[in-house]
Amino acid sequence: MKHNHSIVWLRRDLRLHDHAALSAALSAPEALQCVFVFDSDILAQFANPHDRRVNFLARILAHLHAQLQARGGGMLVLHGRATEAIPKLVAATHAVRLVLAEDYEPGPIARDAAVEKALRGGCSVVTVTDHVMISPREVVKDDGSAFKVFTPYYKKWLSKLTPLSSAEFEVEDAGRYASYEAMCTAARAAGLNVLDAANPAAMLEAMGYVHREDDLWRVDDVHQRLAHFVEEKIRPYPSARNFMDGDTTSKLSPYLRFGLVSVRECVRAAEAKGGGEKWINELCWREFYMAIMLHFPEVAEHEFVEKYRGKLTWSSNDAHLQAFREGRTGYPIVDAAVRELLQTGWMHNRARMIVASFFSKDLFLDWRKGEQFFAEHLMDYEFSSNNGGWQWATSTGTDAAPYFRIFNPQLQSEKFDAEAVYIKRYVPELRNLSAKEIHALHSRSHPEQREGSLFDERDSSAAPQNDSSYPHPIVDHKTAKDFAVQVFRDLGHVMGGA
Ligand SMILES: Cc1cc2nc3c(=O)[nH]c(=O)nc-3n(C[C@H](O)[C@H](O)[C@H](O)COP(=O)(O)OP(=O)(O)OC[C@H]3O[C@@H](n4cnc5c(N)ncnc54)[C@H](O)[C@@H]3O)c2cc1C
Repeated sequence: MKHNHSIVWLRRDLRLHDHAALSAALSAPEALQCVFVFDSDILAQFANPHDRRVNFLARILAHLHAQLQARGGGMLVLHGRATEAIPKLVAATHAVRLVLAEDYEPGPIARDAAVEKALRGGCSVVTVTDHVMISPREVVKDDGSAFKVFTPYYKKWLSKLTPLSSAEFEVEDAGRYASYEAMCTAARAAGLNVLDAANPAAMLEAMGYVHREDDLWRVDDVHQRLAHFVEEKIRPYPSARNFMDGDTTSKLSPYLRFGLVSVRECVRAAEAKGGGEKWINELCWREFYMAIMLHFPEVAEHEFVEKYRGKLTWSSNDAHLQAFREGRTGYPIVDAAVRELLQTGWMHNRARMIVASFFSKDLFLDWRKGEQFFAEHLMDYEFSSNNGGWQWATSTGTDAAPYFRIFNPQLQSEKFDAEAVYIKRYVPELRNLSAKEIHALHSRSHPEQREGSLFDERDSSAAPQNDSSYPHPIVDHKTAKDFAVQVFRDLGHVMGGA
Protein backbone atom coordinates (compact mmCIF):
# COMPACT_ATOMS: atom_id res chain seq x y z
CA MET A 1 0.00 0.00 0.00
CA LYS A 2 1.15 3.53 -0.66
CA HIS A 3 0.14 6.36 1.62
CA ASN A 4 2.42 9.26 0.86
CA HIS A 5 2.16 10.70 4.34
CA SER A 6 4.19 12.04 7.26
CA ILE A 7 4.48 10.15 10.49
CA VAL A 8 4.56 12.27 13.64
CA TRP A 9 6.24 10.27 16.37
CA LEU A 10 5.00 11.55 19.73
CA ARG A 11 7.13 10.87 22.78
CA ARG A 12 7.20 13.58 25.42
CA ASP A 13 4.85 15.92 23.54
CA LEU A 14 1.56 14.18 24.23
CA ARG A 15 -0.91 16.89 23.27
CA LEU A 16 -2.40 18.24 20.05
CA HIS A 17 -1.95 21.97 20.56
CA ASP A 18 1.09 24.29 20.56
CA HIS A 19 2.99 21.40 19.05
CA ALA A 20 6.25 21.84 17.14
CA ALA A 21 6.24 18.40 15.47
CA LEU A 22 2.60 18.55 14.37
CA SER A 23 3.09 22.09 13.14
CA ALA A 24 6.15 21.06 11.11
CA ALA A 25 4.32 18.08 9.61
CA LEU A 26 1.35 20.28 8.74
CA SER A 27 3.56 22.72 6.88
CA ALA A 28 4.18 19.96 4.28
CA PRO A 29 1.39 18.98 1.87
CA GLU A 30 1.14 15.30 2.86
CA ALA A 31 -1.44 13.84 5.22
CA LEU A 32 -0.22 12.83 8.67
CA GLN A 33 -0.43 10.02 11.14
CA CYS A 34 0.45 10.26 14.86
CA VAL A 35 2.17 7.29 16.43
CA PHE A 36 3.28 6.43 19.95
CA VAL A 37 5.41 3.41 20.82
CA PHE A 38 5.31 1.77 24.23
CA ASP A 39 8.98 0.96 23.96
CA SER A 40 9.73 -2.44 25.45
CA ASP A 41 13.32 -1.32 26.09
CA ILE A 42 12.01 1.46 28.33
CA LEU A 43 9.19 -0.55 29.90
CA ALA A 44 11.79 -3.08 31.06
CA GLN A 45 12.76 -0.44 33.66
CA PHE A 46 9.16 -0.20 34.90
CA ALA A 47 8.64 -3.67 36.27
CA ASN A 48 5.80 -2.87 38.67
CA PRO A 49 2.59 -4.07 36.96
CA HIS A 50 0.72 -1.27 38.76
CA ASP A 51 3.12 1.43 37.56
CA ARG A 52 1.40 4.78 37.80
CA ARG A 53 3.25 6.35 34.87
CA VAL A 54 2.39 3.56 32.42
CA ASN A 55 -1.24 3.90 33.54
CA PHE A 56 -1.08 7.66 33.07
CA LEU A 57 0.36 7.16 29.58
CA ALA A 58 -2.42 4.75 28.59
CA ARG A 59 -5.05 7.24 29.73
CA ILE A 60 -3.31 10.10 27.90
CA LEU A 61 -3.17 8.07 24.69
CA ALA A 62 -6.86 7.15 24.88
CA HIS A 63 -7.63 10.83 25.43
CA LEU A 64 -5.53 11.81 22.40
CA HIS A 65 -7.10 9.06 20.33
CA ALA A 66 -10.58 10.41 21.06
CA GLN A 67 -9.46 13.94 20.15
CA LEU A 68 -7.81 12.72 16.96
CA GLN A 69 -10.85 10.71 15.96
CA ALA A 70 -12.95 13.83 16.27
CA ARG A 71 -10.52 15.43 13.81
CA GLY A 72 -10.65 12.57 11.34
CA GLY A 73 -7.56 10.66 12.51
CA GLY A 74 -6.57 8.37 15.36
CA MET A 75 -3.64 7.58 17.61
CA LEU A 76 -1.62 4.62 16.39
CA VAL A 77 -0.26 2.96 19.54
CA LEU A 78 2.40 0.29 19.09
CA HIS A 79 4.11 -1.97 21.60
CA GLY A 80 7.63 -3.18 20.87
CA ARG A 81 11.16 -1.89 20.43
CA ALA A 82 10.94 1.60 18.99
CA THR A 83 14.17 1.09 17.09
CA GLU A 84 12.45 -1.71 15.15
CA ALA A 85 8.82 -0.60 15.17
CA ILE A 86 9.30 2.87 13.69
CA PRO A 87 11.44 1.81 10.70
CA LYS A 88 9.01 -1.08 10.05
CA LEU A 89 6.05 1.27 10.15
CA VAL A 90 7.77 3.74 7.84
CA ALA A 91 8.60 0.96 5.38
CA ALA A 92 5.18 -0.71 5.56
CA THR A 93 3.26 2.49 4.98
CA HIS A 94 5.75 4.15 2.62
CA ALA A 95 5.93 7.27 4.77
CA VAL A 96 7.84 10.13 3.20
CA ARG A 97 8.63 11.96 6.38
CA LEU A 98 9.22 11.18 10.06
CA VAL A 99 8.78 14.16 12.35
CA LEU A 100 9.93 14.11 15.97
CA ALA A 101 11.02 16.44 18.75
CA GLU A 102 14.63 16.20 19.83
CA ASP A 103 15.57 14.66 23.15
CA TYR A 104 18.70 15.38 25.17
CA GLU A 105 19.29 12.23 27.20
CA PRO A 106 21.83 9.60 26.11
CA GLY A 107 19.34 6.71 25.73
CA PRO A 108 16.82 8.57 23.56
CA ILE A 109 19.62 10.18 21.53
CA ALA A 110 21.03 6.73 20.72
CA ARG A 111 17.53 5.39 20.00
CA ASP A 112 16.71 8.21 17.58
CA ALA A 113 20.05 7.80 15.81
CA ALA A 114 19.39 4.05 15.44
CA VAL A 115 15.93 4.70 14.02
CA GLU A 116 17.25 7.21 11.53
CA LYS A 117 19.95 4.78 10.43
CA ALA A 118 17.40 2.01 9.93
CA LEU A 119 15.03 4.04 7.78
CA ARG A 120 14.71 3.16 4.15
CA GLY A 121 15.63 5.75 1.55
CA GLY A 122 12.84 8.09 0.60
CA CYS A 123 11.84 8.98 4.13
CA SER A 124 13.33 12.15 5.52
CA VAL A 125 13.65 12.88 9.22
CA VAL A 126 12.57 16.28 10.52
CA THR A 127 13.70 17.04 14.05
CA VAL A 128 12.17 19.97 15.91
CA THR A 129 12.73 21.60 19.28
CA ASP A 130 9.64 21.29 21.43
CA HIS A 131 9.96 20.56 25.10
CA VAL A 132 12.35 23.34 26.03
CA MET A 133 12.22 27.09 25.55
CA ILE A 134 15.69 27.10 24.00
CA SER A 135 17.54 24.04 22.80
CA PRO A 136 20.38 23.31 25.23
CA ARG A 137 22.59 22.98 22.16
CA GLU A 138 22.19 26.74 21.72
CA VAL A 139 22.71 27.86 25.32
CA VAL A 140 26.49 27.67 25.44
CA LYS A 141 29.33 29.99 26.39
CA ASP A 142 30.61 32.47 23.82
CA ASP A 143 33.48 30.09 23.02
CA GLY A 144 30.97 27.30 22.30
CA SER A 145 31.71 25.26 25.42
CA ALA A 146 28.99 24.09 27.78
CA PHE A 147 28.03 25.81 31.02
CA LYS A 148 28.64 23.89 34.23
CA VAL A 149 26.95 26.31 36.59
CA PHE A 150 23.31 27.37 36.62
CA THR A 151 23.43 31.17 37.00
CA PRO A 152 25.45 31.94 33.84
CA TYR A 153 23.33 29.38 31.99
CA TYR A 154 20.20 31.15 33.18
CA LYS A 155 21.56 34.55 32.12
CA LYS A 156 22.42 33.28 28.67
CA TRP A 157 19.05 31.52 28.43
CA LEU A 158 17.25 34.74 29.35
CA SER A 159 19.27 36.69 26.78
CA LYS A 160 18.09 34.27 24.10
CA LEU A 161 14.41 34.39 25.04
CA THR A 162 12.45 36.42 22.52
CA PRO A 163 8.68 36.65 21.95
CA LEU A 164 9.28 34.03 19.25
CA SER A 165 10.65 31.54 21.82
CA SER A 166 7.29 31.38 23.57
CA ALA A 167 5.15 31.78 20.45
CA GLU A 168 2.52 29.11 19.93
CA PHE A 169 3.06 26.43 17.26
CA GLU A 170 -0.27 26.50 15.45
CA VAL A 171 -1.96 23.17 14.72
CA GLU A 172 -4.46 23.61 11.87
CA ASP A 173 -5.13 19.93 11.34
CA ALA A 174 -8.76 19.66 10.20
CA GLY A 175 -8.98 17.18 7.34
CA ARG A 176 -5.24 16.57 7.35
CA TYR A 177 -5.02 13.06 8.80
CA ALA A 178 -4.38 9.85 6.88
CA SER A 179 -6.84 6.98 7.28
CA TYR A 180 -6.32 5.56 10.76
CA GLU A 181 -7.87 2.20 9.87
CA ALA A 182 -5.61 1.82 6.84
CA MET A 183 -2.57 2.60 9.01
CA CYS A 184 -3.57 0.02 11.62
CA THR A 185 -4.10 -2.59 8.90
CA ALA A 186 -0.73 -1.88 7.29
CA ALA A 187 1.03 -1.91 10.67
CA ARG A 188 -0.53 -5.25 11.63
CA ALA A 189 0.33 -6.72 8.25
CA ALA A 190 3.95 -5.73 8.91
CA GLY A 191 3.88 -7.75 12.12
CA LEU A 192 3.65 -4.77 14.43
CA ASN A 193 1.81 -5.02 17.71
CA VAL A 194 -1.01 -2.45 17.45
CA LEU A 195 -2.78 -1.73 20.73
CA ASP A 196 -6.41 -0.70 21.21
CA ALA A 197 -5.90 3.03 21.59
CA ALA A 198 -9.50 3.60 22.65
CA ASN A 199 -9.20 1.45 25.72
CA PRO A 200 -6.59 2.14 28.45
CA ALA A 201 -7.34 -1.09 30.31
CA ALA A 202 -6.89 -3.16 27.14
CA MET A 203 -3.62 -1.38 26.27
CA LEU A 204 -2.26 -2.02 29.75
CA GLU A 205 -3.39 -5.60 29.87
CA ALA A 206 -1.76 -6.31 26.52
CA MET A 207 1.56 -5.17 28.01
CA GLY A 208 1.20 -6.96 31.34
CA TYR A 209 0.13 -3.94 33.41
CA VAL A 210 -2.91 -3.52 35.60
CA HIS A 211 -5.33 -0.69 34.97
CA ARG A 212 -6.16 1.57 37.90
CA GLU A 213 -8.13 4.76 38.24
CA ASP A 214 -6.12 7.75 39.42
CA ASP A 215 -7.98 10.90 40.33
CA LEU A 216 -4.82 12.59 41.57
CA TRP A 217 -3.37 12.84 38.07
CA ARG A 218 -6.13 13.46 35.59
CA VAL A 219 -5.35 13.82 31.93
CA ASP A 220 -7.90 16.50 31.15
CA ASP A 221 -7.35 19.21 33.75
CA VAL A 222 -3.89 20.50 32.96
CA HIS A 223 -5.10 23.88 31.74
CA GLN A 224 -7.19 24.40 34.85
CA ARG A 225 -4.10 23.53 36.92
CA LEU A 226 -1.96 26.03 35.05
CA ALA A 227 -4.60 28.77 35.15
CA HIS A 228 -5.28 28.21 38.86
CA PHE A 229 -1.59 28.26 39.73
CA VAL A 230 -0.90 31.40 37.72
CA GLU A 231 -3.96 33.20 39.02
CA GLU A 232 -3.67 32.27 42.69
CA LYS A 233 -0.14 31.16 43.47
CA ILE A 234 2.48 32.51 41.16
CA ARG A 235 2.86 35.82 43.00
CA PRO A 236 3.42 34.34 46.48
CA TYR A 237 5.49 31.50 44.95
CA PRO A 238 8.97 32.96 45.67
CA SER A 239 8.40 32.99 49.43
CA ALA A 240 5.74 30.27 49.74
CA ARG A 241 7.21 27.54 47.58
CA ASN A 242 9.43 26.02 50.25
CA PHE A 243 6.64 25.29 52.70
CA MET A 244 5.72 21.66 52.53
CA ASP A 245 2.48 22.02 54.47
CA GLY A 246 0.70 24.10 51.82
CA ASP A 247 -0.24 23.65 48.19
CA THR A 248 2.20 26.29 47.02
CA THR A 249 3.77 24.99 43.81
CA SER A 250 2.18 24.21 40.46
CA LYS A 251 2.38 20.38 40.55
CA LEU A 252 2.68 20.61 36.79
CA SER A 253 5.85 18.51 36.63
CA PRO A 254 4.18 15.27 35.43
CA TYR A 255 2.35 17.25 32.77
CA LEU A 256 5.53 18.93 31.60
CA ARG A 257 7.28 15.59 31.68
CA PHE A 258 4.85 14.00 29.26
CA GLY A 259 4.09 17.21 27.39
CA LEU A 260 0.39 17.57 28.14
CA VAL A 261 1.24 21.22 28.51
CA SER A 262 3.99 22.96 26.57
CA VAL A 263 6.67 24.88 28.39
CA ARG A 264 5.88 27.80 26.08
CA GLU A 265 2.30 27.92 27.40
CA CYS A 266 3.66 27.99 30.93
CA VAL A 267 5.96 30.90 30.17
CA ARG A 268 3.27 32.78 28.24
CA ALA A 269 0.82 32.40 31.14
CA ALA A 270 3.43 33.49 33.69
CA GLU A 271 4.47 36.51 31.64
CA ALA A 272 0.86 37.55 31.03
CA LYS A 273 0.17 37.51 34.76
CA GLY A 274 3.42 39.21 35.73
CA GLY A 275 5.50 38.46 38.80
CA GLY A 276 6.39 34.96 37.61
CA GLU A 277 10.14 35.44 37.27
CA LYS A 278 11.03 33.00 40.05
CA TRP A 279 8.81 30.31 38.56
CA ILE A 280 10.30 30.84 35.11
CA ASN A 281 13.70 30.52 36.74
CA GLU A 282 12.65 27.06 38.01
CA LEU A 283 11.55 26.10 34.52
CA CYS A 284 15.05 26.98 33.42
CA TRP A 285 16.53 24.57 36.00
CA ARG A 286 14.73 21.81 34.13
CA GLU A 287 16.42 22.84 30.90
CA PHE A 288 19.78 23.36 32.61
CA TYR A 289 19.79 19.75 33.82
CA MET A 290 18.90 18.62 30.31
CA ALA A 291 21.90 20.62 29.07
CA ILE A 292 24.14 18.97 31.66
CA MET A 293 22.92 15.53 30.57
CA LEU A 294 23.45 16.45 26.92
CA HIS A 295 26.94 17.86 27.26
CA PHE A 296 28.19 15.64 30.09
CA PRO A 297 26.40 12.31 29.56
CA GLU A 298 28.85 10.62 31.93
CA VAL A 299 26.79 12.08 34.82
CA ALA A 300 24.23 9.39 34.07
CA GLU A 301 26.55 6.95 35.83
CA HIS A 302 29.22 9.00 37.54
CA GLU A 303 29.69 11.95 39.85
CA PHE A 304 29.74 15.24 37.95
CA VAL A 305 32.59 16.54 40.10
CA GLU A 306 35.53 14.53 38.84
CA LYS A 307 37.47 14.45 42.08
CA TYR A 308 34.72 12.36 43.69
CA ARG A 309 34.36 9.87 40.82
CA GLY A 310 34.81 6.34 42.11
CA LYS A 311 36.33 7.69 45.33
CA LEU A 312 33.37 7.50 47.69
CA THR A 313 32.91 4.23 49.56
CA TRP A 314 29.22 4.07 50.31
CA SER A 315 27.48 2.18 53.06
CA SER A 316 26.06 -1.21 52.12
CA ASN A 317 23.54 -1.26 54.95
CA ASP A 318 20.48 -2.90 53.37
CA ALA A 319 18.41 -2.51 56.52
CA HIS A 320 18.84 1.26 56.28
CA LEU A 321 17.94 1.20 52.60
CA GLN A 322 14.82 -0.83 53.31
CA ALA A 323 13.75 1.40 56.21
CA PHE A 324 14.19 4.41 53.96
CA ARG A 325 12.19 2.87 51.12
CA GLU A 326 9.31 2.18 53.52
CA GLY A 327 9.36 5.63 55.11
CA ARG A 328 10.36 4.19 58.47
CA THR A 329 13.66 5.86 59.29
CA GLY A 330 12.42 7.44 62.51
CA TYR A 331 12.95 10.90 61.03
CA PRO A 332 9.38 12.21 60.66
CA ILE A 333 10.07 14.69 57.87
CA VAL A 334 11.97 12.11 55.83
CA ASP A 335 9.32 9.47 56.39
CA ALA A 336 6.48 11.85 55.53
CA ALA A 337 8.22 12.75 52.28
CA VAL A 338 8.88 9.14 51.27
CA ARG A 339 5.31 8.19 52.10
CA GLU A 340 4.01 11.16 50.11
CA LEU A 341 5.93 9.75 47.16
CA LEU A 342 4.63 6.21 47.68
CA GLN A 343 1.04 7.37 48.09
CA THR A 344 0.80 10.10 45.46
CA GLY A 345 3.70 9.62 43.03
CA TRP A 346 4.96 13.11 43.78
CA MET A 347 7.12 14.76 46.42
CA HIS A 348 7.54 18.41 47.32
CA ASN A 349 10.82 19.92 46.08
CA ARG A 350 12.12 20.85 49.53
CA ALA A 351 11.21 17.39 50.74
CA ARG A 352 13.18 15.93 47.82
CA MET A 353 16.22 17.93 48.92
CA ILE A 354 15.88 16.88 52.57
CA VAL A 355 15.36 13.25 51.65
CA ALA A 356 18.22 13.12 49.17
CA SER A 357 20.58 14.77 51.65
CA PHE A 358 19.50 12.35 54.38
CA PHE A 359 20.00 9.39 52.07
CA SER A 360 23.47 10.26 50.84
CA LYS A 361 24.86 12.02 53.92
CA ASP A 362 23.09 10.65 57.00
CA LEU A 363 22.74 7.09 55.71
CA PHE A 364 25.77 7.44 53.47
CA LEU A 365 24.03 5.30 50.86
CA ASP A 366 25.02 5.56 47.21
CA TRP A 367 23.03 8.40 45.64
CA ARG A 368 22.42 6.18 42.59
CA LYS A 369 20.23 3.92 44.74
CA GLY A 370 18.20 6.94 45.87
CA GLU A 371 17.98 8.16 42.31
CA GLN A 372 16.66 4.72 41.34
CA PHE A 373 14.08 4.76 44.14
CA PHE A 374 12.76 8.11 42.90
CA ALA A 375 12.79 6.79 39.33
CA GLU A 376 10.57 3.90 40.42
CA HIS A 377 7.92 6.14 41.93
CA LEU A 378 7.96 9.74 40.66
CA MET A 379 5.13 10.64 38.29
CA ASP A 380 7.38 13.38 36.96
CA TYR A 381 10.43 11.15 36.75
CA GLU A 382 12.83 12.83 34.40
CA PHE A 383 16.30 11.38 34.10
CA SER A 384 18.15 14.68 33.87
CA SER A 385 16.32 16.57 36.66
CA ASN A 386 16.38 13.55 38.94
CA ASN A 387 20.07 12.96 38.39
CA GLY A 388 20.77 16.69 38.80
CA GLY A 389 18.76 16.88 42.02
CA TRP A 390 20.40 13.83 43.55
CA GLN A 391 23.91 14.89 42.63
CA TRP A 392 23.21 18.38 43.95
CA ALA A 393 22.11 17.03 47.33
CA THR A 394 25.07 14.65 47.46
CA SER A 395 27.52 17.52 46.81
CA THR A 396 28.82 15.75 43.72
CA GLY A 397 26.86 17.67 41.08
CA THR A 398 26.71 21.06 39.40
CA ASP A 399 26.15 23.97 41.79
CA ALA A 400 26.30 21.27 44.43
CA ALA A 401 25.43 21.92 48.04
CA PRO A 402 28.82 22.31 49.80
CA TYR A 403 29.70 19.00 51.44
CA PHE A 404 29.78 20.54 54.91
CA ARG A 405 26.28 22.04 54.63
CA ILE A 406 24.20 19.00 55.46
CA PHE A 407 20.47 19.41 55.90
CA ASN A 408 19.41 19.07 59.51
CA PRO A 409 16.05 17.26 59.32
CA GLN A 410 14.82 18.76 62.56
CA LEU A 411 15.59 22.36 61.61
CA GLN A 412 14.11 21.80 58.16
CA SER A 413 10.84 20.49 59.52
CA GLU A 414 10.64 23.19 62.19
CA LYS A 415 11.10 25.83 59.54
CA PHE A 416 9.11 24.47 56.60
CA ASP A 417 6.46 22.37 58.37
CA ALA A 418 6.23 24.26 61.64
CA GLU A 419 2.83 22.87 62.69
CA ALA A 420 3.76 19.38 61.44
CA VAL A 421 0.77 19.46 59.10
CA TYR A 422 2.69 17.73 56.31
CA ILE A 423 4.17 15.16 58.68
CA LYS A 424 0.82 14.30 60.22
CA ARG A 425 -0.77 14.00 56.78
CA TYR A 426 1.57 11.17 55.81
CA VAL A 427 2.66 9.71 59.15
CA PRO A 428 -0.61 8.94 60.92
CA GLU A 429 1.19 7.29 63.86
CA LEU A 430 2.22 10.78 64.97
CA ARG A 431 -1.16 12.50 64.70
CA ASN A 432 -1.73 12.59 68.45
CA LEU A 433 1.56 14.34 69.17
CA SER A 434 2.03 18.10 69.23
CA ALA A 435 4.18 19.72 66.55
CA LYS A 436 6.83 20.41 69.19
CA GLU A 437 6.93 16.76 70.23
CA ILE A 438 7.14 15.64 66.61
CA HIS A 439 10.06 17.94 65.82
CA ALA A 440 11.81 16.71 68.95
CA LEU A 441 11.60 13.13 67.64
CA HIS A 442 14.20 14.05 65.05
CA SER A 443 16.88 14.46 67.66
CA ARG A 444 16.40 11.14 69.46
CA SER A 445 19.21 8.81 68.57
CA HIS A 446 18.98 5.07 68.30
CA PRO A 447 20.15 3.62 71.62
CA GLU A 448 22.41 1.08 69.94
CA GLN A 449 24.08 3.69 67.85
CA ARG A 450 25.05 6.29 70.34
CA GLU A 451 28.37 4.65 70.98
CA GLY A 452 28.80 2.46 67.90
CA SER A 453 30.26 3.31 64.56
CA LEU A 454 27.83 4.32 61.86
CA PHE A 455 28.01 1.15 59.83
CA ASP A 456 28.81 -1.54 62.34
CA GLU A 457 27.03 -4.88 62.49
CA ARG A 458 24.50 -3.67 64.99
CA ASP A 459 23.07 -1.25 62.46
CA SER A 460 21.25 -4.08 60.72
CA SER A 461 19.08 -4.47 63.80
CA ALA A 462 18.37 -0.77 63.80
CA ALA A 463 15.64 -1.16 61.18
CA PRO A 464 12.14 -0.81 62.57
CA GLN A 465 10.82 -4.10 63.89
CA ASN A 466 7.09 -3.66 63.59
CA ASP A 467 4.53 -1.52 61.85
CA SER A 468 2.42 -0.55 64.82
CA SER A 469 4.78 1.94 66.44
CA TYR A 470 6.84 4.73 65.02
CA PRO A 471 10.50 3.63 64.84
CA HIS A 472 13.48 5.13 66.60
CA PRO A 473 15.82 7.09 64.33
CA ILE A 474 17.95 4.56 62.48
CA VAL A 475 21.00 6.81 62.67
CA ASP A 476 22.09 9.66 64.87
CA HIS A 477 22.15 12.81 62.76
CA LYS A 478 25.10 14.42 64.51
CA THR A 479 27.29 11.29 64.29
CA ALA A 480 26.29 10.68 60.69
CA LYS A 481 26.88 14.27 59.69
CA ASP A 482 30.35 14.35 61.24
CA PHE A 483 31.22 11.12 59.45
CA ALA A 484 30.07 12.39 56.02
CA VAL A 485 31.82 15.73 56.43
CA GLN A 486 35.03 13.93 57.38
CA VAL A 487 34.87 11.62 54.33
CA PHE A 488 34.32 14.51 51.93
CA ARG A 489 36.93 16.65 53.67
CA ASP A 490 39.55 13.90 53.51
CA LEU A 491 38.87 13.39 49.81
CA GLY A 492 39.15 17.10 49.22
CA HIS A 493 42.57 17.10 50.89
CA VAL A 494 43.80 13.99 49.12
CA MET A 495 42.62 15.31 45.79
CA GLY A 496 43.87 18.83 46.34
CA GLY A 497 41.20 21.08 47.79
CA ALA A 498 37.47 20.55 48.30
C1 LIG B 1 16.60 14.83 44.50
C2 LIG B 1 15.69 15.53 43.51
C3 LIG B 1 15.10 14.81 42.47
C4 LIG B 1 14.28 15.44 41.53
N1 LIG B 1 13.74 14.71 40.51
C5 LIG B 1 12.96 15.32 39.58
C6 LIG B 1 12.41 14.59 38.51
O1 LIG B 1 12.63 13.39 38.34
N2 LIG B 1 11.59 15.25 37.63
C7 LIG B 1 11.32 16.59 37.77
O2 LIG B 1 10.57 17.13 36.95
N3 LIG B 1 11.87 17.30 38.76
C8 LIG B 1 12.66 16.72 39.67
N4 LIG B 1 13.18 17.46 40.70
C9 LIG B 1 12.97 18.91 40.72
C10 LIG B 1 11.74 19.40 41.51
O3 LIG B 1 11.69 18.82 42.77
C11 LIG B 1 10.42 19.15 40.78
O4 LIG B 1 10.50 19.57 39.45
C12 LIG B 1 9.28 19.91 41.46
O5 LIG B 1 9.16 19.55 42.80
C13 LIG B 1 7.99 19.63 40.71
O6 LIG B 1 6.91 20.22 41.36
P1 LIG B 1 6.10 21.41 40.70
O7 LIG B 1 5.67 21.04 39.34
O8 LIG B 1 5.05 21.82 41.66
O9 LIG B 1 7.23 22.52 40.59
P2 LIG B 1 7.15 24.10 40.50
O10 LIG B 1 7.83 24.64 41.69
O11 LIG B 1 5.78 24.58 40.21
O12 LIG B 1 8.12 24.40 39.26
C14 LIG B 1 7.63 24.41 37.91
C15 LIG B 1 8.42 23.45 37.07
O13 LIG B 1 9.79 23.82 37.03
C16 LIG B 1 10.60 22.65 36.96
N5 LIG B 1 11.44 22.62 38.15
C17 LIG B 1 11.19 23.17 39.35
N6 LIG B 1 12.23 22.98 40.19
C18 LIG B 1 13.14 22.26 39.51
C19 LIG B 1 14.43 21.75 39.82
N7 LIG B 1 15.01 21.94 41.03
N8 LIG B 1 15.09 21.04 38.88
C20 LIG B 1 14.55 20.84 37.66
N9 LIG B 1 13.33 21.33 37.30
C21 LIG B 1 12.65 22.03 38.21
C22 LIG B 1 9.66 21.46 36.93
O14 LIG B 1 9.42 21.11 35.59
C23 LIG B 1 8.41 22.03 37.58
O15 LIG B 1 7.24 21.36 37.21
C24 LIG B 1 14.03 16.84 41.65
C25 LIG B 1 14.61 17.55 42.70
C26 LIG B 1 15.42 16.91 43.63
C27 LIG B 1 16.03 17.70 44.75
